[in-house]
Amino acid sequence: MPDSVLRGRGLTKRFGGLTAVSDVDIDVVRGEILGLIGPNGAGKSTLFRLISGVMKPSAGTIELLGKPMTGKSPNAICVAGIAFTHQIVRPLRELSVRENVSVGAAFGRSPRASHAEVHRIVDDVLRFIGLADRADAEARSLTLSGQKRLEIARALATDPAVLLLDEVLAGLNPTETDRTLELIREVRDRGVTIVMVEHNLRAVRSLCSRIVVLVEGHKIVEGAPDAVLSDQRVVDAYLGSAAHA
Ligand code: ADP
Ligand code: MG
Repeated sequence: MPDSVLRGRGLTKRFGGLTAVSDVDIDVVRGEILGLIGPNGAGKSTLFRLISGVMKPSAGTIELLGKPMTGKSPNAICVAGIAFTHQIVRPLRELSVRENVSVGAAFGRSPRASHAEVHRIVDDVLRFIGLADRADAEARSLTLSGQKRLEIARALATDPAVLLLDEVLAGLNPTETDRTLELIREVRDRGVTIVMVEHNLRAVRSLCSRIVVLVEGHKIVEGAPDAVLSDQRVVDAYLGSAAHA
């Protein structure tokens, strides 16, 4: 695929007898917002864990900008330029908002020589994300929406080439949702390529240039949002999962 930033081939993750991710090929193109959707348990978060190095694949390969990433540590993959947010927010609760974001700045892609440099990056990210006025607050004092933005801020402070967002809209009210959608667009406009797992299909339709659908670990469809979301296999997968829920 032209201008591929991230490339996964044959990605597979087995947990005992369960194959959570099964032989998935994925290409992410520079500058796009790619949507990753599918029913609960489809393997979306597991695929993110494979890409970010949190889990090693049972089989398959991952390349970032043509360089092999398979089997590297999460830290090495972060330094190479892949950042991610957790589906369940997990800030360092006792630390301040600023300290949480500093962790990202200190461990990211561009080595920061000085405290002043880290400080500048963190200030910039906090302003961009709308948390500058809470910089000295304890992370645990933020609302859910604030903690979700802090997750994004920590990831952005690593200066990623690719940002993996796992259900960052879940639990937000409509106003917070719209604000976060705008923020995601701005992150993309800053030159960060984005892959987002999202259940809010209206949001996916408005943000994403392409969608990949996982069902029971398999990639079943990918393509333009309108075509994918009206595909009978996708409709059936969602209706099926709603019926089981
Ligand atoms: P999704 O994010 O699409 O809802 P997950 O990737 O979280 O799905 O999970 C895919 C499947 O893998 C589920 O059946 C889940 O129970 C299973 N799974 C995920 N993580 C583990 C794990 N660490 N150990 C065993 N099974 C897991
Ligand atoms: Mg998940």
